[in-house]
Amino acid sequence: MIARAPRPAWAEVDLGAIRANLVNIATGLNHGTRIMAVVKANAYGHGDVEVARAALEAGAAGLGVVLLEEGIRLREAGIGAPVLLMQEPAYDRAAEVLARDLTPAVFTIAGLEALGAAAARAGSPIRAHVKIDTGLNRLGWPSDRIDEFALALRAHPLVEIEGAFTHFAFADEPDHPFISVQLSRFAAAVDELRAHGIEPRLLHAGNSAASLTRPDAHFDMVRVGIAMYGLSPGPKCDGIVALRPALTLKARAAMVKRVRGGEAVSYGHRYRLKRDATIVTIPLGYADGWPRGLSSNADVLIGGRRYPAVGTVCMDSFMADLGDDECEVGDEIVLIGEQGGERIGVEAVAAATGTINYEVVTRVSPRIPRVFRG
Ligand SMILES: *Cc1c(COP(=O)(O)O)cnc(C)c1O
Repeated sequence: MIARAPRPAWAEVDLGAIRANLVNIATGLNHGTRIMAVVKANAYGHGDVEVARAALEAGAAGLGVVLLEEGIRLREAGIGAPVLLMQEPAYDRAAEVLARDLTPAVFTIAGLEALGAAAARAGSPIRAHVKIDTGLNRLGWPSDRIDEFALALRAHPLVEIEGAFTHFAFADEPDHPFISVQLSRFAAAVDELRAHGIEPRLLHAGNSAASLTRPDAHFDMVRVGIAMYGLSPGPKCDGIVALRPALTLKARAAMVKRVRGGEAVSYGHRYRLKRDATIVTIPLGYADGWPRGLSSNADVLIGGRRYPAVGTVCMDSFMADLGDDECEVGDEIVLIGEQGGERIGVEAVAAATGTINYEVVTRVSPRIPRVFRG
């Protein structure tokens, strides 16, 4: 029987690549440093539950997400590993955090009080990680006023501080002097917590980029996202360990026809044919995460050859110009990935739309079924 994808546009996710990437990343870590696999945002578009299981099989010590809902999804799938919520959950949902055995970040007094109250009501302690802002100035208690937060933590003994962490502003620029500034602020803040009798046993700071380039930021754990998916955190991190992209985006030709020279293609007729050509319609558009900015600004692979996408990207489809070549309805088309000897990288798609690989994979929409291999 020929297995058919549930719709003629889908993403293939190679779980073997995810496992291999994690193993390769682990070989470059300091002795004793564990990996937290970051599976927020549906595992950067790759499928959170499946990626989480693959990461744990490959030796990850825990999982990182942002939303409470993301943590609950993992628990409902039967995953029992430690899950860190890297942002504070909504204050009125602290009881659920505890009931689901999730580990929240804590970095506000209101957040701390909500956790403390939920723990008191349940009559059991709750584990949390203090998020310390060392200069990203996004989320976290400011490192230069940590003594204030330490006092508040002391007043909530049911909130057990298992870990402390921070996040870099320039991890993808491994030589940037601000990384060291943040590291010394982090060290000073942790010392201050200890001076107040708070002993976080898990310190972590590094994301993928720092995991690859900054052993001085490895600590007890690193939070690895993009590199696990086989994508480079940035040009300065290329080639440090072998990474294999896990995601391939594919579709099947929905319509193929000869169009006369002088005719034009798609909304606004922005692409006009100079001569007769074969135009193929690809059933995937901006509602699927293929941005409109790729109008006449991407290539596709058909039959192992590269052809230009032409005309405006529509909500559910776009077109490519095959010139005098042929293809058939149902032929497999690769938008991201390899076919024959040709390859279209996530980076090429990102560059064409002025963004980074993170955004390209993350915005592949829930409309696109994920098919898992490996
Ligand atoms: C998303 C995220 C990570 C993972 O970053 P990558 O660059 O994808 O490895 C790590 N830490 C925090 C706090 C994050 O939000």
